[in-house]
Amino acid sequence: MCTVIHNSYIICGVLSLQVKVAEYAGFCAGVKRAIQIARDAASEGGKCYTLGPLVHNDAVVRYFEKKGIIPVDSLESIEPGRLIIRSHGVPPGVIQEAERRGFLIKDATCPLVKKVHTLAALLRGEGYAIVIFGDKKHAEVQGIAGWCENEASIIESLEEVFGLQVGSKVGFISQTTRDENQFYQVAAALLPGKTEVRVFNTICPATRNRQASARDLSRQVDLMLVVGDINSSNTATLTRECKFTGVKTFQIQNASDLKKEWFEGVTKVGITAGASTPDWIIKEVLDRMSEYDENAVKEQQIEETVNNEQSVPREESFAKMEAEMADFVTPNRGDIIKGTIIQVLDDEVMVDVGGKSEGIIPARELSVKDAGSAKDLVKVGDEIEVMVLKWDDDGTILLSKKKVDAQKYMDKLEEDYKEERTIQGVVTGSVKGGLLVDVGVVAFLPASHVDDGYVRNIEDFIGQTLNFKIIEFNRNKRRGSQVVVSRKQVVGEEKARLKEAFWQNIEEGQTRTGKIKRIVDYGAFIDLGGYEGLLHVSEIDHVRIEHPSDVLHEGEEIEVYILGLDREKERVSLSRKKLLKSPWEIVMEKYKPGDIVEGTVVRIAPFGAFVEIEAGVDGLVHISQLANRRVEKPEDVVSVQDKIKIKILSMDPEEKRISLSLKEAQEEAENKEVEEYLEQQDNE
Ligand code: SF4
Repeated sequence: MCTVIHNSYIICGVLSLQVKVAEYAGFCAGVKRAIQIARDAASEGGKCYTLGPLVHNDAVVRYFEKKGIIPVDSLESIEPGRLIIRSHGVPPGVIQEAERRGFLIKDATCPLVKKVHTLAALLRGEGYAIVIFGDKKHAEVQGIAGWCENEASIIESLEEVFGLQVGSKVGFISQTTRDENQFYQVAAALLPGKTEVRVFNTICPATRNRQASARDLSRQVDLMLVVGDINSSNTATLTRECKFTGVKTFQIQNASDLKKEWFEGVTKVGITAGASTPDWIIKEVLDRMSEYDENAVKEQQIEETVNNEQSVPREESFAKMEAEMADFVTPNRGDIIKGTIIQVLDDEVMVDVGGKSEGIIPARELSVKDAGSAKDLVKVGDEIEVMVLKWDDDGTILLSKKKVDAQKYMDKLEEDYKEERTIQGVVTGSVKGGLLVDVGVVAFLPASHVDDGYVRNIEDFIGQTLNFKIIEFNRNKRRGSQVVVSRKQVVGEEKARLKEAFWQNIEEGQTRTGKIKRIVDYGAFIDLGGYEGLLHVSEIDHVRIEHPSDVLHEGEEIEVYILGLDREKERVSLSRKKLLKSPWEIVMEKYKPGDIVEGTVVRIAPFGAFVEIEAGVDGLVHISQLANRRVEKPEDVVSVQDKIKIKILSMDPEEKRISLSLKEAQEEAENKEVEEYLEQQDNE
């Protein structure tokens, strides 16, 4: 009796054949799992149903039938009880119906098939026309079709692609047990005339492993035996793969199908088996080749295989297989995938994006911002997200990080737009009709939205970081900017906020700092933050001024006094003068009676002359104080505009009067001269 040893030759009986079992053959992890679920159900006792045979293998089905696991064709024919959903899976409607009828469901759908269900539903939800490469009558394919509302097109061969009527946006998936080469041939044939074909290689790694090891073995032997049920799709694929290598191949269900004449002139035999073929059937075949004894199969052997977890040649964990499946999903143009930077040159970056290919990002596709070298932007080891731009003939993928970044900015801006948030941006330049603003992407700021009033020169804003609102957002716009911003609204809102705060806090008698916005003939407009008030020319200074611009300058900050408020009319009277010292105050601080000061004759009256000693303050030199002789009229002594030295006789701040004397000032000057002369004589 032979033992099943994978990937190693054994010598079989009277024919002295060298027989090798493929590295991967027999039960896959999905079938093992379903069998374990059936075993558990059998051990609970009583009847349990499976909708269709548990696996595509009569012997296994019969074995479980004896243990109370009964295959049925439909739910209508049976009373509600326990129901195993086999590894092929079912459409969602079947589960809903079973639950509605009161069945207790034990779901043995292979996790990898479930992934295909999820993918099919997702693609359907995103509006893709779904094409399934698979056997139309196979339970797995019907299950997958159910997950896309039975709207999928199912094709079994390359030829069927040409008569296919589907939309231009296609999601292409496969039955898990199909041939990978054919799958890609069909994918390529689907492309012409479509705007988008998303290709998902959903062929299970267990299938791929079985196909690859069957092919390998076929090339080493004179005869291949493929063991599996006539209804097993993956067994049929294995048979086809072996035949393609040119080796003589026979598909058998069990040892009884063997024919001795097949082995004439044959020295090396390879054996492979479908994913639902238990080891004991392979063993039976090996034994038959040794003995040709139909009774070699023992019930004990069946028991051992069904209960033996180690019968699968290599460990095929679902996690590992799921990861492999993910790797084989072909990224399409426009897909966003993750990658790790493995090389950075000045003008391009190489990215490991998993799978079989490497990606290249040209420097111009690295960032939305300008940079001299790629090295300034990224480094080896960085994990990044990139968009697939196209596949080159050599399998290299051309990628863009810039487009992903821009998309992220666009997502954020779309949210800002919907939430009416204020965003910040830098004005980078001007174009016809407005300015360009960097808000992550380049946005357009129309000239009429630069401020809430007329702007004489919008280019003054270039280089400034400002706040904006998005007033137009359209990702699909082909011409012009997808993002249009406005500062007008932000400024308007800010003004309204400041205005409210201004009127809440303003009081008469306060001193406020304001900015001179505009100077006019009759005064100046002062921005007090939330209010722009007029400072009348008469309130600018104590002294008379020819024009406000003699004293004030636009843009300058000054302090003003709040003279009065009219909240109803929203008017505020301002004064600068009020905060300045009056000429009288200056004079009172600066001079005292007895001081000799210089002044200008500003007016002459019959009783004397008025002399200005500080701007806006003049005193009287009475006619009697003009000279130490009798003066007929003041003009005999002084004229208007004369600059003269006078003595302050008295100062009356109450009456704002100052008495001056020219006579005493001159006497003092003469006395001083005499004193200085005498002093000089004494010194000589
Ligand atoms: S062949 Fe793959 S997908 Fe199918 S049951 Fe086995 S493990 Fe699951």
